[in-house]
Amino acid sequence: MSDCIFCKIASGEIPSNKVYEDDKILSFYDLDPQAPVHVLIIPKKHIGSLDEATEEDKELLSYIMLKIKDIAKSLELENGYRVAINTGEDGGQTVHHLHFHLLGKRSMIWPPG
Ligand code: 5GP
Ligand code: ZN
Repeated sequence: MSDCIFCKIASGEIPSNKVYEDDKILSFYDLDPQAPVHVLIIPKKHIGSLDEATEEDKELLSYIMLKIKDIAKSLELENGYRVAINTGEDGGQTVHHLHFHLLGKRSMIWPPG
């Protein structure tokens, strides 16, 4: 999608501090970290939000979840971590390209604000 900031990051048009990349996904450090480790994981395919994912995305979504586990391991989050998907206005989503927040290296509180 031409005016999507995460599509531009996925294509390399906008630079990012990469953690992991393959043909399907990209992981990079968040610009405004909310924990000592805060990375984002995005599909390279533009999906506007979790709400816009379809049956067709089933394999891609499970692929991402299992990769997040590997990325957490590579970032040495052996003490635990949180994965968050903000969705829609009430969910606090600000970038309309599906992304998974991976936060770690601090104790998280529940419920989140
Ligand atoms: P959301 O609020 O949509 O769940 O999360 C969007 C996240 O993207 C925010 O945590 C924000 O800091 C991050 N972000 C927005 N623009 C950029 C950018 O250009 N580069 C990087 N690395 N992160 C960004
Ligand atoms: Zn996009």
